[in-house]
Amino acid sequence: MLVALWGAGHVGRKQAHADLLDDASAAAALKVTLLTSELDKQRSLPFVLAQDSEVKGALLSGDPAGYQALNLKFEALSRDTGAAVIYLLDLSGTGVAASNWNLPASFVGSNFAFRPYFQGAVHAGRSEYFALGNVSNEPGLYLARRLEQDGRPLGVIVVKVEFGTVEAGWRKFPAPVFVTDERGVVLLSSVESWRFLTERPLSPEEREALRTSLQFGDAPLTPLPLRPDSAGRVTVQLPGRDEEPFLHVQAPVPGEPWQFHLLSATGEATERAVADARLKAALAVLCTLLAAGIWMHRRHRIQDRVRAQEAIRQELESRVAARTRELREANAQLRAEMEDRQRAEAELHSLQEELVQANKLAFLGQITAGVAHEINQPVAAIRSYADNSAVFLERGVLDRVRGNMAAIAALTERIGVITNELRTFSRKSAPVADGRVPVEVAIDGALTLVGFQLRRRGIALHRSASEPGLAVKAERVRLEQVLVNLLQNAIDALEQAAEPRITVSAYRDGSRVALVVADNGPGLPESITASLFTPFQTTKPRGLGLGLVISRDIVADFGGSLSVQSQPGCGARFTIHLPEATS
Ligand code: ADP
Repeated sequence: MLVALWGAGHVGRKQAHADLLDDASAAAALKVTLLTSELDKQRSLPFVLAQDSEVKGALLSGDPAGYQALNLKFEALSRDTGAAVIYLLDLSGTGVAASNWNLPASFVGSNFAFRPYFQGAVHAGRSEYFALGNVSNEPGLYLARRLEQDGRPLGVIVVKVEFGTVEAGWRKFPAPVFVTDERGVVLLSSVESWRFLTERPLSPEEREALRTSLQFGDAPLTPLPLRPDSAGRVTVQLPGRDEEPFLHVQAPVPGEPWQFHLLSATGEATERAVADARLKAALAVLCTLLAAGIWMHRRHRIQDRVRAQEAIRQELESRVAARTRELREANAQLRAEMEDRQRAEAELHSLQEELVQANKLAFLGQITAGVAHEINQPVAAIRSYADNSAVFLERGVLDRVRGNMAAIAALTERIGVITNELRTFSRKSAPVADGRVPVEVAIDGALTLVGFQLRRRGIALHRSASEPGLAVKAERVRLEQVLVNLLQNAIDALEQAAEPRITVSAYRDGSRVALVVADNGPGLPESITASLFTPFQTTKPRGLGLGLVISRDIVADFGGSLSVQSQPGCGARFTIHLPEATS
């Protein structure tokens, strides 16, 4: 701000000076023009009078009446043209007629031969000379012209121009003005006390010459109170005022060896210009500062916002990272749990397999006695057929021998079926459920294993024939295991029954196939009806309570279900539902 104020002051001052200089030059030129036109106007007067026949006639005749007429003429002319004095000199330089003929300071009779303008006009025809009037004591410009008749000089006509009015006009303006001659002596000035002061100190010789000529009377010819300063101005001491700085312009006055000087006050205008420039600079600086302030404020706000957004972004990122970490951990935990579960399931599965196999082997133990008896019978029959055949062979009854052999073959086939069934049943089978098992085959297999028990206990078997070709999606051995389980339970339940009967049937039930094992025993004991398919529910002294549980799991593996209907005293009816296998 300080630099701007200092710079603006400097520039403002320079600008103000330039403006003032322009104004002052213009004012000086105008004033010079006015002065010149005034001089030109006055110059025409002696020129015209030098040609005037009346003036010449008066000089030629030397008639006092003629001079008197000129006195009156000059008086009127001087009044009209504003010339201070108009007068006529004869060749001796004595005034013969004058516009001030009737005033105490009349030039008539006075001799002006010593005046340079007289001599100049006599010799050169015309001359101009500024001097202090030696009669009137008023300074003025003397315009002199020679009068001639046939190339002979008659006298000199002089017009004295005083500049009181011009100077009074100048005084109306505040700027002091003055006119100097070729030696720097002030001839005219708006400041009265400056008249006949000098622009520069005069040499003693010049001073002496001027004093002798009485051009400026006994004026002291001291220098003007003007002092140039370092800033190209002049310090001026005006009467009754302190020293002030002024701009000094000068211009030549055309037609005269004069210089016109104008002093223009710089102080106030300069101060105003400097103050203006400083104000503008201060405003500009303030505006710039304001703009910079606004810009910085906005920049700060944007930076704050960017910082806040960055903080939010980082917060978000850390949250996402934390959440991702949690999710990853949860995922890892879940995977570990899944693996544990899969492992547990696999273990459970293999355990179930073991259980199924154990259940099967338990049945085998149960049915072995019956099966052994089932085999014993044909073996005994084969024995007796063989014995018979030997007798028949000795007798030569070959037909009977052949018949016996055929019976033996049939019996061995029967034994083969049973042992085959036993071997198949005891085999550890895969728990696959995509096999196609004809319903009759499975029922036959199961009945082969428990048939002996039915017969021994006198249980009637009702087997309703199923649709031919009816098959289910299952695995044969396991399905037989379920059927054996249900048949064995029915056989056990019928121990005390009066007319024991087991019904085995199979039929299509919608898209599924139902296999039913029903008995007319006492039905399910109430104590275990609610929890029939839960492990270790048994009413048998040597029972495990796992048969139905395993059966239900096997059927579920095939995509089917095992259900029971039972009423106390009316027997139990177990139904296996399995998906039908189409050929
Ligand atoms: P277990 O034969 O080893 O007892 P199960 O799961 O096969 O195991 O049978 C559970 C119980 O259900 C049997 O102890 C018996 O009380 C009852 N039960 C099963 N089938 C019948 C049925 N047909 N009639 C009456 N009760 C039955």
